[in-house]
Amino acid sequence: MQPDKKDLDLFKKWIDESNNIVFFGGAGVSTESGIPDFRSVDGLYHQKYDYPPETILSHSFFIRNTKEFYKFYKDKMLVENAKPNITHIKLAELEKSGKLSAVVTQNIDGLHQAAGSTKVYELHGSTLRNYCEKCHKFYNADYIKNSQGVPLCECGGIIKPDVVLYEEGLDDITVSTAVNAISNADMLIVGGTSLAVYPAAGLIQYFKGRHLVLINKSSTPLDSNADLLLQCSLGEVFSQI
Ligand code: ZN
Repeated sequence: MQPDKKDLDLFKKWIDESNNIVFFGGAGVSTESGIPDFRSVDGLYHQKYDYPPETILSHSFFIRNTKEFYKFYKDKMLVENAKPNITHIKLAELEKSGKLSAVVTQNIDGLHQAAGSTKVYELHGSTLRNYCEKCHKFYNADYIKNSQGVPLCECGGIIKPDVVLYEEGLDDITVSTAVNAISNADMLIVGGTSLAVYPAAGLIQYFKGRHLVLINKSSTPLDSNADLLLQCSLGEVFSQI
């Protein structure tokens, strides 16, 4: 569904008036770059695996079935040749023009940085960073992708993606930095998230600014809190600003 012209004009007006915008994004930001969303209808839940993705991508599964974890991870989580889409690009432009102060994301694909954003708080980590559990040496995604079986460090230690798995807690510093950015923002744009899962809904409660804009194709539990609700895809909105 195309965004209403009146709504779009209001959105643009608010962006013009603001100089401390924070964007909070979920899986919907990356699906338009061809990266699957775990929880959507077309997502990984509906593909065939021995275990559901939520089990495979859990801390205990990583410990117990590291080889099986990596089979799935390399196949499904390391999406090759994914490129930033119009939303990533426009957000990077807003940062460069001094309008946007931070992107808070639940995605782990590094596409905001690839588009040129520099202030990106990755709540769930990044597949682009991987570290040896023994000596903490870092490795890139190519090293993981090209390794046979379980990727090992030159010291012999097992390499783990710097991604927050199920059963694992979020990084305290990343969360507090994100909370700080949101609580100081004059405009908060929330996009591509159903706001159904922790910590998304909780973080938004810290916003005290003027304009809360929600952009999501389907309805969310916080729709009534929004000053402006755009029920369409992010690409349809950001391609027009
Ligand atoms: Zn090592």
